Amino acid sequence: MEIARHWRLKAQRYGLVGEVCPHCDVKIFPPRDLCPDCGQEAREPFAFSGNGEVYSYAPVKDAPAGFESNAPYTVALVRLEEGPLVTAQLTDLGGEAARIGMPVEMVTRKLRSDGERGMLVYGYKFRPRLA
Ligand SMILES: [Zn+2]
Repeated sequence: MEIARHWRLKAQRYGLVGEVCPHCDVKIFPPRDLCPDCGQEAREPFAFSGNGEVYSYAPVKDAPAGFESNAPYTVALVRLEEGPLVTAQLTDLGGEAARIGMPVEMVTRKLRSDGERGMLVYGYKFRPRLA
């Protein structure tokens, strides 16, 4: 019980875990316990591969307060190979221009550390995938 809970938390922190609809097999991200396609209950965890391609993107020059050191950066809408669209920052472009259709993969990055409790906060970004 405790191990399963720990695995689920860990999977959510380090991977892209959503849900799969047991009725129509639609993959759901982020998890919402309800299938957007057929409207029935969907609580079966599903781990996404993290692979996808850029569906659309937008450069961000003026970052929100607290994220200035990241600017300028590119935010993309990524179409996962399992179907859902997710919004995330692109990283490791290395001077390459983002483009629609660019193959990308998810990477887990430290977003900030919570000094008081020594906790690290992780989030996901996408980087170009080597063919
Ligand atoms: Zn469904």
